[in-house]
Amino acid sequence: MPGFELFGDIERQQVNDVLESGVLMRYGFDGMRNGHWKAKELEAALEDTFKTKHVQLVSSGTAAVTVALAAAGVGAGDEVIMPTFTFVASFEAIMMLGAIPVLVDIDDTLVLDPKAVEAAITPKTKAIMVVQMCGSMGEMSALQDICNKHRLLLVEDACQAIGGTYKGKSLGSIGDLGCFSFDFVKTITCGEGGAVITNNNTYYKNADHYSDHGHDHVGNDRGAETHPFLGYNFRISELHAAVGLAQVKRLPEFLKIQRKYLKLFQDIVGKVDGVTLRTVPESGEESGSFFNFFLPDLETSRKVIEGFKHGGIDACWNYYDNNWHYIRKWEHFKELKSLFPISKEVIDGLKYLKTKSFKQSDHYIGRNISCLIKLSWTEDEVIERANKMADIIKGVLIS
Ligand SMILES: *Cc1c(COP(=O)(O)O)cnc(C)c1O
Repeated sequence: MPGFELFGDIERQQVNDVLESGVLMRYGFDGMRNGHWKAKELEAALEDTFKTKHVQLVSSGTAAVTVALAAAGVGAGDEVIMPTFTFVASFEAIMMLGAIPVLVDIDDTLVLDPKAVEAAITPKTKAIMVVQMCGSMGEMSALQDICNKHRLLLVEDACQAIGGTYKGKSLGSIGDLGCFSFDFVKTITCGEGGAVITNNNTYYKNADHYSDHGHDHVGNDRGAETHPFLGYNFRISELHAAVGLAQVKRLPEFLKIQRKYLKLFQDIVGKVDGVTLRTVPESGEESGSFFNFFLPDLETSRKVIEGFKHGGIDACWNYYDNNWHYIRKWEHFKELKSLFPISKEVIDGLKYLKTKSFKQSDHYIGRNISCLIKLSWTEDEVIERANKMADIIKGVLIS
């Protein structure tokens, strides 16, 4: 994954273009900027990459999820169904809009279980947020069918799956709106940055205005602008966009490396007796940002992680006790530890979290090990690493 591993002259050149003009802002200053519009250029490049009609860059992946939901009109009291295995950004964004996150189980894809989704739908449900974790995807056809049947929005958080595809379409471009992150550890990095993508003209226009205080961006040099509605500042800077522009051109190269290494891990580690691979939906192709596999149970996973640590295998996690990505450790969320008052509607809407158990998610997350795939490794290093991992796993399974 992290694109920063391969920073070089292309990134430096792009950033210098911006610094030489001194215009670090993506809007306005038309006369001063020596013709550089890095954010606009990056949006065009991403439209081409993801084969989508519109891309709106924003300041982060978290901002992208927030703006996507806002652009589609999700707000006070609406319920948004989301998975237990995700990143805290998912529920933060929903909460910021005054809406209610409804967490449901994942399945062996490590993404939303369509059956759990359908069971959680109420008259208040407005959207389903599918989080394409660790480079792969959920059962998108089933999720689309549910959305069509119940007239719900499908929002895709594809922050960890840049370049993954389903039925030949880019992840992120399948739902009504898709979200990407270009933070420091993602496949394409800008330092901080994100994007909302959509084929819907209204959602795009809303995202464009909302992410810049509601400005309508009419006319040159910001002269003729009005505010059709309320907004906020989720803008990306030209400096960040410049780095992204260099990186996006290298995406095919990044994906080729990731997928080659993923296959090596699958061929070596995946062949060990007792190891099973994560389910990838039919006609889905992973981005290769992570290699995911299952062991027989939680105890084995913990021992294997311990073994990896002793054996010098870094960047592998079992998320069961992890407080970035899994519901079990999110006490601040379950206890609603907020700096400012939260509406009674949301407090009531979240009461279920104190009692609901997520046995099915625990089952899959407990058995899962997720390993980051680094771009800077050589093929020989990957083979050596994979063999070492396989030996450690065999050792644990025999004992
Ligand atoms: C990284 C990430 C985000 C948030 O992106 P930031 O740019 O760090 O705000 C959201 N969702 C998922 C699944 C992520 O991995």
